This record gives sequence, structure tokens and C-alpha cells, in this order.
Amino acid sequence: MTASTPPSIYPLRGRDTLPMPGEGGVPNVTRFAPSPTGYLHIGHAYSALFAWEAARRSGGCFVLRIENIDETRCLDAFEQATIDDLAWLGITSDVPIRRQADEFAAYEAALSVLSRRDLIYPCFCTRKQIRAEVEESGRAPHGPSGEVLYPGICRHLADEERDYRIANGEPFAWRLNVDAAMAQTGPLRWYDCRAGWVDCRPDLLGDVVLGRKDTPTSYHLAVTVDDAIQGVNLVTRGEDLYHATHIHRLLQALLDLPAPRWYHHNLVADSRGQRLAKRNRAITLRHLRDLGKSPADVWKLLGLQLG
Ligand code: GLU
Repeated sequence: MTASTPPSIYPLRGRDTLPMPGEGGVPNVTRFAPSPTGYLHIGHAYSALFAWEAARRSGGCFVLRIENIDETRCLDAFEQATIDDLAWLGITSDVPIRRQADEFAAYEAALSVLSRRDLIYPCFCTRKQIRAEVEESGRAPHGPSGEVLYPGICRHLADEERDYRIANGEPFAWRLNVDAAMAQTGPLRWYDCRAGWVDCRPDLLGDVVLGRKDTPTSYHLAVTVDDAIQGVNLVTRGEDLYHATHIHRLLQALLDLPAPRWYHHNLVADSRGQRLAKRNRAITLRHLRDLGKSPADVWKLLGLQLG
């Protein structure tokens, strides 16, 4: 098993190297932020070790955060298993563990800031409606990871219609009006330790959801708010989240939050170069432990790309 060479949609190349402390020797505050929807696999272990080492070697701080906003898919049993598996690897949080499901008030406060700036709008669309609209229009703009972008159906609904549908109890999500948001911030950029300065292009992802129909936040909003509240100054995570950073940088600017540095690391691939994922039964740490492997074996298995 090796860390893969990134596919061409990411401008990142070569082996990972642990990022140095920030400017002026400021120690790295890093985090590992799993969603407890299953057991940790070897790809998670790589990500956790990366964040842990980047903090340790700079005399910094490592934060474990449980990203459990999706209350139907996240289970307490997986949360405990995550904490136990990390402890088995020798990884524990330097600060009390933050659980996103306990922090909805913080995300709602951020949403109201954006609402006051007139940058979010209620979206009543179902997936089916979005699909139908995209098919009918004959054009389907795609995001950098191949996802269909929201075609803007609810972006310009009249206030009366919005009020009427909300009053009628129709479920809705809050979407970011990305063009309006970019017009307010002006051009932005962000720093990736491998790619260097990157021009911020949140428009590539379109009007993303910031408050879901089922929960008053979304991944993008919660992660941005939490990284700031927790003082994370180096966000390390897999390159599959590289493009999400465009949105996070925009949200930081809108919410007046500091911008950290980012390091998007390689994903662990199987021997055929395929990315490990829960659905293809990636090797869980539990399974390795049952096979009699030790934490040292796991570090070795990851090839210690980190040197
Ligand atoms: N919770 C996300 C996941 O499990 C990771 C979020 C992040 O690192 O920004 O994929």
C-alpha cells in the first residue's frame, strides 16, 4: 500500500513531506476531523498520523474533532471506536474533543451573519427537481470533482414566494449565493504547502449548501467555523478535499475568520492504485489489530512517507 500520485485534477505532486512551522516559527495547530459513520481504515490512519506528526514535530497542538452533523449516519459506537482506534495508534487529542452535533448554535450564528449580508437564500429543491432541471436545460455545469452544480432554480425567487413556502412548512436548505459573495470579498487566495498560493475559485463549486434541510449547518460551514474557533493554523487533509478549500477560504473572508495554511496530502491507494474507501472494504484498523498487527506495523505499512 502506498500514498498515491494525485490525479491530475489536483495541482499537487510527489511524496508528502511534513509541513514546517508557520511564519516566525509559530507551532502548527492541526486537526483530524473524522465523521463517525464507520470504522477508521488505513487511509484515516495516514491522515491522523500526518496531522499528529505535523503538530508534534513543530512543538504544536493536535486537535481531534468529531464531525457528526449527520445524525442519521453518525453512530455513537463508531465515535467511541474512532477514539479507541486512535488511542491504539498512540494518538490522543491535546484539547477536549469537540463534537459538532453539540455546537449547532455556533453554526447558526455564522449563518445569520451571512443572512444579514444577504448572501444566502432558501432552496426548496429536491434532488429529483435539480436533476430534471439540469436534463431539461441541456447543460449541466460540473464541479472540479465531477459533481453537477446547482442550476440556481431558487436563487431569484421573489420574497413573497419564499415567505409563503416557508410559512407553509416546505422543507428548505440554505444555499450560498457564490457570485454575490465573491463580489463582496473581491479576489482571494489561499496557501497550500504543496501547491503554493492558489487563486480562490469558489465559483467552481457553485451555490453550495450551508444549512441542510435536516440540520442547521453543512460540512463547509461547520468545518470553517470550527477550525477558526479551535485555532487551527494548519489544515491537513486528503487531496479529495482540495477544491472544498475554495469555499472555506471564501467563508473565512465573509465571516472575518483567520486563514490557516493548508496541506492536502496524498490518498492511500491499494496495490492497483485505487483510492481506499469504506465501500470497497478498505482495511480497518480493527481488522489489522485482530490480525495481530501492532501500531508499529501500521506506521510501517503506510510506508512512512513522512520520513
Ligand atoms: N469530516 C471529513 C471527513 O471525514 C473531513 C473534514 C476535513 O478534514 O475537512 O471526510
